Amino acid sequence: MTPWTAARFSAGPLRAPEGMSTRLRLRVDGNFLPLFADSFPANDLRYGPAAIREPVRPPRHCEDTVSKIDLATELEAAVVAVRDAASVCQSVQNDLVNAATLEKKDRSPVTVADFASQALVCSSLSGNSKIDAIVGEEDAADLREAGAEETRDKVVEHVRGVRGAGVSATQALDWIDLGGVDPDDSTERYWTLDPIDGTKGFLRGQQYAIALGLIEHGRVVLGVLGCPNLPGPDGQLGCLVSAIRGQGAEIRPLNGSGRDGIGAIRVSDILTTAEARFCESVESGHSDQGQSAQIAAALGITEEPVRVDSQAKYAIVAQGQAQIYLRLPTSKQYREKIWDHAAGMIVVEEAGGTVSDIRGHPLDFGHGRTLDNNAGVIATNGPLHDAVLKAVANFVDVG
Ligand code: AMP
Ligand code: MG
Repeated sequence: MTPWTAARFSAGPLRAPEGMSTRLRLRVDGNFLPLFADSFPANDLRYGPAAIREPVRPPRHCEDTVSKIDLATELEAAVVAVRDAASVCQSVQNDLVNAATLEKKDRSPVTVADFASQALVCSSLSGNSKIDAIVGEEDAADLREAGAEETRDKVVEHVRGVRGAGVSATQALDWIDLGGVDPDDSTERYWTLDPIDGTKGFLRGQQYAIALGLIEHGRVVLGVLGCPNLPGPDGQLGCLVSAIRGQGAEIRPLNGSGRDGIGAIRVSDILTTAEARFCESVESGHSDQGQSAQIAAALGITEEPVRVDSQAKYAIVAQGQAQIYLRLPTSKQYREKIWDHAAGMIVVEEAGGTVSDIRGHPLDFGHGRTLDNNAGVIATNGPLHDAVLKAVANFVDVG
């Protein structure tokens, strides 16, 4: 069993030994390995920074639907927004891992970071993007209630830390509410934002993502995932993966500037399922882990699943570090949210992979805030997709 496949991203000791650049460590067969990108074997994909590979060719089918807006400019606007939000999330998580909050199971830090992240993304987009509709996971209604003063003050303080001391509380709350758009058929283009995807991972000091996708006429055309605890191409923790429809997927350091250090990423070219690794949610309530174990066995997969919170799973598949991502419904009622998949899906597709629901249907972003016509998600490197769908149909009631 390779170390990577047995690995769970996991919080290391609460205090870093002297000289360590991060507290995060990788747990392998019960042992902790440092999760320092600079200590990885540079050429070993299983551990390391994403490979910089040849750019991916544009897919065949997109000429008729090429966007009328300047997606390259919108991408850089989205990158700036996600980087601002990530800086706040990183500082809150760093404090959190040191604090007693982990033991108390206190969720308030993630609440603060969630709102501050949405405020920063929305304020940044309102200045830099031509698209003004934002469908965010959060709104400020609760923060405006009496009794929410303590949380509200902390949110405002974090927003001021990035935007300056002159930001009023009203302004910060109004920025959050810019993300309150409810899309319908008349909303041609909109951003969809998960300010902290993987809140449980965030609280555990593990993986989470700031996810921003752009939907145009019901189709995802651009996506950015900021993953503060995944290694980047520079060997440091923190990567930002992104894609524009038809132009391939890219990775750059999260804590960098502009396009510095950017490179193309590509999915794995493995052709047989027995060689594959799969990833899934840490939370068994978000994906049926019993069924995934049966499916993996039927596919001849011997490696342990890579369990990671958030859309970091899509980033891992897009970089070729796993070949399959299974998200198997735990209830018939649950509808996946658009902000949980828009950015991740386009990144995998543009890295050469395939994404569908458990029936093999494309994810349909034309129904407002949820993926009403879909159940679960399967993402693969492409060549393995049909075999995975067949195995899923044998163990899951795909309706
Ligand atoms: P993950 O980190 O991949 O487990 O996914 C986190 C996301 O799961 C959150 O952003 C929630 O929106 C979403 N979620 C919440 N409940 C469920 C559920 N029952 N099934 C699938 N996803 C869910
Ligand atoms: Mg989410």
